[in-house]
Amino acid sequence: MTQNDLYDQLQRLDGQGYGAYKSLKGEYDFGDFTLHIDHVQGDPFAAPSRVRVVVPQSVAGFPKGLWEVPCRAIALADYLTREFYRATQRRERGSGSGKSGLVGIVRPSQAMLKRSAAGVTGDAVELRFTVGLPAFGRRIAGRQGAELLCRTVPKLVESTLFYGALDGEAMQRQVDGAEDAAELRSQLATHNLVAFVADGAILPRRSGVDQRPLAEQAVPFKSPDSLRVTLTCPHAGAVTGMGIPQGITLIVGGGYHGKSTLLRAIEAGVYNHIPGDGRHQVVTEPAAVKVRAEDGRSIAGVDISPFIGSLPQGKSTQTFSTPNASGSTSQAANIIEAIEAGATALLVDEDTSATNFMIRDRRMQALIAKDREPITPFIDKVRQLYTDHGISTVLVMGGSGDYFDVADTVIAMDEFCPQDVTEQAKAIAAAYKTERDPEGGPSFGRLTPRIIQPGSIDPSQGKRSVKLRARDVDQLQIGTEAIDLSAVEQLVEQGQVRAIAEAIVYAQRYRMTATTPLPEVIAAVMADVEQYGLDCLTDWPMGDLVSFRGLELAAAINRLRTLRTG
Ligand code: ADP
Ligand code: MG
Repeated sequence: MTQNDLYDQLQRLDGQGYGAYKSLKGEYDFGDFTLHIDHVQGDPFAAPSRVRVVVPQSVAGFPKGLWEVPCRAIALADYLTREFYRATQRRERGSGSGKSGLVGIVRPSQAMLKRSAAGVTGDAVELRFTVGLPAFGRRIAGRQGAELLCRTVPKLVESTLFYGALDGEAMQRQVDGAEDAAELRSQLATHNLVAFVADGAILPRRSGVDQRPLAEQAVPFKSPDSLRVTLTCPHAGAVTGMGIPQGITLIVGGGYHGKSTLLRAIEAGVYNHIPGDGRHQVVTEPAAVKVRAEDGRSIAGVDISPFIGSLPQGKSTQTFSTPNASGSTSQAANIIEAIEAGATALLVDEDTSATNFMIRDRRMQALIAKDREPITPFIDKVRQLYTDHGISTVLVMGGSGDYFDVADTVIAMDEFCPQDVTEQAKAIAAAYKTERDPEGGPSFGRLTPRIIQPGSIDPSQGKRSVKLRARDVDQLQIGTEAIDLSAVEQLVEQGQVRAIAEAIVYAQRYRMTATTPLPEVIAAVMADVEQYGLDCLTDWPMGDLVSFRGLELAAAINRLRTLRTG
């Protein structure tokens, strides 16, 4: 079938009932590319139809240098997705009912991520998107459909997927930037660093709902001399900036001086960012995890005994379960679960922490005896986390100087400029003793990987065997169960949530057994995705899946309220 066959067929369908569109499913030769209609929507108001275009490299013409290395191919595919996204935002969709005339593709964030929406290989460029097949009422608008598929789509393809139509220098910048960021990240370990923030980086964002860089008034990042390191990357060459050493780092400073902004940039540093983001040379070790308090979450069989001892009414903390965690128990569980899932560094902000989890000072120790207080505060475990398990912590803490005793590095934010105040903090700690009694013993405590009961995850709903939905980045639905992800802060795109929903079902079906510990389940799923791509998670090629870390997959599973262990 050719473009002309499709055109004629759409003319014939004009005026028929919407269901007749189903006959379009198939593959069409458009000369320069192939159009695949993979899924046809059932009515004009339903989720739009899913299509793919495949442009052979002989036509698309992207030079090898842009895609030969996997990291560069991902950056190039990201670039093409953005171009297509921008083009769809510019066009008007015309008239018609429901989703008539819409052309859509996943919306990229500031991060450069691997997405099922686009792929570039030596053979071809493939792009997946959706179209709203046009209707008036519930009757097929065949002429508009022909215009959309046979005129608009080819124009979009020519302007966004042909090398010659695009800005070659911008593409080069983007793939070089991705490779540089990956190289900077890979140098962290050899320099004993958790994170690196380049001089000149722009960390603040426009607003809480706009992740683009703050345009004016942003103070560029400038490392204190004592923490400045020089890393080298293949394209930008030598890059200087602040290295955050392994161990325990405190970020202190007055309110509104940029502490949380710095920590958020470090959180985001597990991903590569597009040129112009301001954080494209801010990199963090790949398994760094933001942890916070999250009262109200459910917890299933987590051993929180390193932090929390005997609870009222003799409730066990070695296999702790609750449908309604407190601030402190939720933060303890978040940390233990992150470690179970493979976290190598913890990122903690006082703004989102439970005070009684973070600190118990001398006076409170005197008033409330240890046998009445089940919580061993983080201050008494943060050092052992590093010495016993090699897990570093970066902690924003403007409110308690007690942490000076356990910190290796203290960075003060002053008018958005970092200062190294480690020496002063140590001198102050020596001059003013906290006189706290250390709590919780000499070692971190037990870590017990859990086994999830596969039967406690049920994606079915009524007659449908699998029901999944991703609502923005902070919620997903598996069967009848909603999972709240608003405290899983390193998810940046809805497509990640969608992919995680698919991955949970995949894990339950193929990788969970009554004897496999959760970390092994997660590792097996991630290995499959690595080897076979995101497509292995779904029955047919979807365009809306975005790569994610095993850490966030585990976090989503852990928040499922039906979850049972043992
Ligand atoms: P803190 O955590 O120290 O209270 P925040 O990190 O929340 O402070 O920052 C306070 C405000 O200052 C925010 O609106 C943030 O966007 C802005 N900000 C942070 N860093 C910079 C910077 N380098 N230049 C300009 N504004 C900044
Ligand atoms: Mg803050």
